Amino acid sequence: MPSFDAIIIGAGPNGLAAAHRLASKGQKVLVVEAAGTPGGGAGLSHLSYNLDPRAEKAMGLAAHGLEWLTTNLATTALCADGNHLRLEGPVGLRLSGDIAERDRRGWETLRARLLRFAAVLSPLNQFAPPRIAKGVGNPMGKLAMVALRARMLGAKDIRELGRIILTNVHDLLDDELSDPRLKGALAFDATLGGWLGPRSPNSVLPWLVRLSGQTAGKQGALGLPRGGMAALGAAMARSSEAQGVTLRCNARVARIVVDGERAIGVTLASGEEIRAARIVSCTAPKTTLLDLVGPRHLDAGLTTRARHQKSRGGAAKLDLTLKALPDFRGANLRDRLILSGSEHDVERAFNPVKYGRVPDRPGLEIVIPTSRDPRSDSKHHLSAIAQFAPHAPADREAARAQMLAACLMQLETHSPGIGALVESAELLMPYDIEDRYGLPGGQWHAGELSVEQMLFLRPLPGIAQYQGPIPGLWLASAGCHPGGGVSGSAGWNAALAMEAAE
Ligand SMILES: Cc1cc2nc3c(=O)[nH]c(=O)nc-3n(C[C@H](O)[C@H](O)[C@H](O)COP(=O)(O)OP(=O)(O)OC[C@H]3O[C@@H](n4cnc5c(N)ncnc54)[C@H](O)[C@@H]3O)c2cc1C
Repeated sequence: MPSFDAIIIGAGPNGLAAAHRLASKGQKVLVVEAAGTPGGGAGLSHLSYNLDPRAEKAMGLAAHGLEWLTTNLATTALCADGNHLRLEGPVGLRLSGDIAERDRRGWETLRARLLRFAAVLSPLNQFAPPRIAKGVGNPMGKLAMVALRARMLGAKDIRELGRIILTNVHDLLDDELSDPRLKGALAFDATLGGWLGPRSPNSVLPWLVRLSGQTAGKQGALGLPRGGMAALGAAMARSSEAQGVTLRCNARVARIVVDGERAIGVTLASGEEIRAARIVSCTAPKTTLLDLVGPRHLDAGLTTRARHQKSRGGAAKLDLTLKALPDFRGANLRDRLILSGSEHDVERAFNPVKYGRVPDRPGLEIVIPTSRDPRSDSKHHLSAIAQFAPHAPADREAARAQMLAACLMQLETHSPGIGALVESAELLMPYDIEDRYGLPGGQWHAGELSVEQMLFLRPLPGIAQYQGPIPGLWLASAGCHPGGGVSGSAGWNAALAMEAAE
């Protein structure tokens, strides 16, 4: 007899969201997590942009310790000469700084258009992708709603959406704007977490997906929790346990047990075997299929498709402990600081990464949480996502050292003297992120969120509705629709799909 109704592999945001939902429906759920603490990639993250509102509400995250320092973080696009540009409100509703009227009006129009288009896509985050081959099981009512929202845009907007959706960010920005600070910050934001530069084809659609998220009901807004994103992960874990979920950390799954072509349990690295009616993998699909299940249980075509799934990470994570607050030439340190240069600099930072090399001038998304929430030891924490970084350089140690030096040089250029404030520095390259968090290639979305790996093609054609290729196995990580971020959407959608399949 199985000991549990469901075993969830991985206590990241998706695993915890799925576990909570299943337990709330009376299921006996075990979550097994390889790391010593739950939360997965939340511990790597620093801002919230797409926490699933269904999960946030049903899990009662506020009651389990989630407290927002802000749900509407402003952005400052840093300029080395101190002529910064500030974007306040969700997705830069208001621009302040020295900026030409033409750019101010251009951004107003473009911003409104992008948010309208992203709002059309946002309901897609909350259900399983349609099946293309079969009409059955499609959430037609919900798809019709998306189609209706699209139609309500009107003919002009629909034509514009059609024009831009498969184009690239560089051209889109070039059509409307001329200010290099604004274009640089937007190009950086649009490509955050992707393995593409602003000139790469199809770079607009992933940006729209990013803008389709929300914080505290505000589309495109950025949230900063007290205690950082790890505190959000911890709140999700507490909520799941309060719902009756059993959570076991330091419990790495070595293998998914398949018997008679059905997934019936897991074997931990310790050798312990645990059985359940359903195995829900909330770690990357590629790892699940190729390593935990293994090709001998899969058909050859699926194995090949899984091997070909693209999962290249281009983001590194930098954490600095500083003796005192730095000065970025007068920028508001409570903001998110984007140090990207122009849109051309963003592209230049991507170019060498294609060939496994480190860029001279990586872009940085910087957050200094201690500027809002001081530490008792009066030290400061600077958290930065650095783009782009190679996921497979020839020499990992050398690439890490080179990337750290390049990041510190960029910081020094914009905040002279910051180097002398650094007490400790940790840089995680994409391959370190893979080793520590299990995201293949260190990829933000546990598999690139590119047009050919979206919707009914995500994670792979034929298994896009969360049901795995063998009975009893479900897939529910960020590698599934709708992709990554500390959201829980894939986990929540998968739990709904399991309920519907009963
Ligand atoms: C550099 C970087 C910065 C990021 N910053 C942000 C940000 O600021 N905001 C944001 O929203 N998103 C950010 N992300 C993305 C975000 O971290 C991920 O998309 C998100 O964590 C995915 O959630 P998940 O639950 O699907 O998987 P994960 O969070 O990866 O969780 C999977 C869990 O499974 C566990 N696991 C893996 N293998 C096994 C096994 N064999 N047995 C048991 N357990 C296992 C892992 O330890 C992990 O805890 C960032 C990503 C990167 C790479």
